[in-house]
This record gives sequence, C-alpha cells and structure tokens, in this order.
Amino acid sequence: MANENNFSDIISHCKEYGYLFPSSEIYDGLSAVYDYGQNGAQLKKNIRDLWWKSMTQMHEDIVGIDAAIFMHPLTWKASGHVDNFSDPMIDNKDSKKRYRVDQLIEAHADKLASEGKKEESEELLKVMDGLIAKDDFAGLKQLILDNNIKCSVSGTAHWTDIRQFNLMFDTQLGSVSGEADKIYLRPETAQGIFVDFLNVQKTGRLKIPFGIAQTGKAFRNEIVARQFIFRMREFEQMEMEFFVRPGTELEWYERWKHERLEWHKALGIPAEKLRFHNHTKLAHYANAAVDIEFEFPFGFKELEGIHSRTDYDLKQHQTYSKKKIQYFDNESGPDGKPYGNYIPYVIETSVGLDRLVLAIISLSFTEEKWKREDGSDDGRVVLKIPPKIAPYKLAVLPLVKKDGLPEIARDLVKKCHQDFYAFYEEKDSIGKRYRRMDAIGTPFCVTVDHQTKEDQTVTIRDRDTMTQRRIHLDEVVPEVLKAIR
Ligand code: ATP
Repeated sequence: MANENNFSDIISHCKEYGYLFPSSEIYDGLSAVYDYGQNGAQLKKNIRDLWWKSMTQMHEDIVGIDAAIFMHPLTWKASGHVDNFSDPMIDNKDSKKRYRVDQLIEAHADKLASEGKKEESEELLKVMDGLIAKDDFAGLKQLILDNNIKCSVSGTAHWTDIRQFNLMFDTQLGSVSGEADKIYLRPETAQGIFVDFLNVQKTGRLKIPFGIAQTGKAFRNEIVARQFIFRMREFEQMEMEFFVRPGTELEWYERWKHERLEWHKALGIPAEKLRFHNHTKLAHYANAAVDIEFEFPFGFKELEGIHSRTDYDLKQHQTYSKKKIQYFDNESGPDGKPYGNYIPYVIETSVGLDRLVLAIISLSFTEEKWKREDGSDDGRVVLKIPPKIAPYKLAVLPLVKKDGLPEIARDLVKKCHQDFYAFYEEKDSIGKRYRRMDAIGTPFCVTVDHQTKEDQTVTIRDRDTMTQRRIHLDEVVPEVLKAIR
C-alpha cells in the first residue's frame, strides 16, 4: 500500500506503465486534467462496468440512462448550482495563491496530528466544522489567523477576506454569444436523472421504489486542484438516484449506506481502509448525508457521498419548468386509502470513478525487496490489482522466439480473447517480462516452453505469490476465468 512518502512514485509509475498521463503533456500539460492511457482506460472501464452491472443488471428496480452533458441553463438555476455551487476561498496576499478554506485548515490539522498534537488537531477541525455550518466567514478567517496558518508558497499569513467562488464552467450555445445563450458544463450527472424522471418512469412503467443510474463526465472549476486524480477539473461520476415514498427515505438511506460500503469491500478494498463520515453541515435540500471515506496515501478522504435529498430537486424542476413532476401511487397506505399523487423523495449514491481508480492503484502499489541466494539485492514493484478489474488478465510468453513456441502462444492468446484480455510478449528475458507484467498488474503469466510441444503443458505464474506450476494448455482459460469471476 502506498503512503504519503511514495505517492510521487505512484504518479510516476502510472505514467511509466500507461495508466495516466498529464493532459496535453507536449504543451506542458493542463492543470488538474489527466488522460487515461491504455491500461488506465481499461482499469477505469472495468470498474465502471462492475458498478453498472451491480446497479442495473443485479437490481431489478434500477435502470440506467445516459443523459447529455449540456442541459438547459434553467436546470442549474433550479438545482441551486447557479446561486450556491461555490466554495469559500481565501487568497494569500504575498503569493497570490488561492486556497479553499476548509482544505487550508484541514492541511494544518493534518500537520498538527503528524507532530503528535492529536487533540489540538481534532479541536481545530471541530471548531472549523461549527463555523462552516454557520457560514461564519469572519470566524473562519479569525481561526486561520489565530492558528497562524501560513501559505505554503510565501510562508506568510497575510490573508484576504474569505469570498465565495462558483465552480461551474460556462460556454456559449451556437455562434452568437450573449448571456441568453450561456450554458454550463454539468458539475454533476444527477440533474440529468431528475429532469428525465418522468420520461423514464412512464416509458419503463416503473413503480416506486425504483432507481435511475448513470455514469458520465462532470466538470468543476476546482480552485485548489491537486493530489493527482483525486481532485480534477474534468472527472467522471457514477450516480444513482433512488426514488421512494415520502417518509420512508431514512430507512432507504440506511440500506443504501450499507449496501454501498459492502460494494467497495467486494471490489477488493479492505474494511479498515474505509469509514463513514457523517456530514455536520447538511445541504439545504438534504435530511441526512454521509461520505464513505477511503484512506488515500494522504489520509482518509471522500470517495463516495450518500445523500437523502428529500423531494428538493424534483420540486425545483417542477417549479422552474412549470411542468407537473409527480408520481401516482395506487397502492394503499395503512389507513386503507391509496397514497395518490406525490413528488417522490430521493436517496442519492454518488461515487467518483477517478477516485476509485486512485484508491485501487494506491492500494495495489507494492514495493517488494528480498535477497537472492548469492546475497545480492532483488526486488520488484507490483500492482496487486484485484484480478476481476485488472486491465490484462493474462500474459502469454513464449520462452524463445523460435522452435514453434510463438505459434503455440499466439494460438492460446486467440483462445482467450473471447473471454478476457490477454497480452502477448516475446521480447526480453522471461524474468524481465514477468517484472513488466507485475508492474502493469497482470494477475497471471503463462510461459510456453519446449516441454509444451511434448506434453501440451505450460507454466502458469501467480503475480502476487510468484509461485509457478505446470498445467495443461486446455486448463489455462478456465483457471483465469475462475480467478476473475
Ligand atoms: P469534495 O468535498 O471532495 O470536493 P464533494 O462533496 O464536492 O467532494 P460530491 O459533489 O458529493 O463531492 O460528488 C460526488 C463524488 O464525485 C465525490 O464523492 C467524489 O468521489 C467525486 N468528485 C467530486 N469532485 C471531484 C473532483 N474535482 N475530481 C474527482 N472526483 C470528484
């Protein structure tokens, strides 16, 4: 598992092995925007597919949609993003560096904790939470000054007042620019689900309770964008809105809270790396909210948010669109009368796909060192990615580039392609090829050698234990399938 000390090694590793590159790197990159390379894109897709399958295919009462990134601008007025989607920021007057207030204070609290001042650190966070809950910006500034929190660039505590900055990107629709044509890049995928609510419910003949799931890009002009793909300006979310009868929402909230935690564990994240963090300050539309946090190399941080959003969003869209957004419930309540028309309440589960990729990579990144028999040092860097989401499942390696071994290996690769990704490689020594596959995170390597020609057996090597055994060629596909199911 990675820690703060080797976080930069992870970032370099991701670049060296085709996982992630800075966007437009030949032009020196674009701040907080990243491209997924050949292995990263596949890992991300595997995680997205698993989420989609578990949400839709495995839940009879949830369907998936794919709404557009561009939406009518009133959507964002209705959702509250135009007026409220902002973060309190503070600038350092000397370095001109801008900070998100909560992150500036949290970083100071982390520093205190690392110096052994745990109680002081916890007290600082408690006071900060209280001030944030009251939107007390003057109090927050005073807290920063009282704690002598300094800018990491200038080293000074010359701060401006705290101001709010909207995080939405805007652009123009069509060729004529003007305020009327201003549209936004969606800052969350959820609103696409809300505005499509009636279309989906009616065409799918869906009965409450039911959910609508969606994955897709979201955009936020994050002021403080750092920690690699943890906080990006263009990222991907996987969101599900579960519509329920008013009054039952807190029961469903508890169910989803636990179901989502279990999902992360089933993905391969150990329980001790996950925790719940209840929100002290609830958004005006929520009546309960919790984050599932993961222990990233830089500490426990939000991976997924679960919110009980009441009927706020649908109600707002009803008001702004002047279209009735209601559900007719013909089931009878305890008093024997039908529930009738109402605006459903909503539980939202919202997870960042890129944060999940980072969680899996930092969890999988392992540096191993050992002594060879002659006393010299040996070691490897291995990505112990859970086999079911690893980009390649198998590498097929002919021992030498002749004697008919490449042909046998190629045949095996072809056989695998129906079921999973297999990688063929014949260059370099077998040891070097194993190391490369370890670094990419390929769970199995099969070596085809001269004995294969005689008895149809190959050596299969396990990435994590490095143990090798001989199995029949026909057993290779079933062995791998067993491990990735
Ligand atoms: P944070 O407090 O870390 O900014 P948030 O509370 O604003 O996150 P939500 O609006 O609840 O996040 O978004 C749901 C999920 O989307 C988050 O749990 C996170 O995984 C992901 N996410 C949000 N912002 C970003 C970002 N800038 N880059 C990558 N992922 C993000």
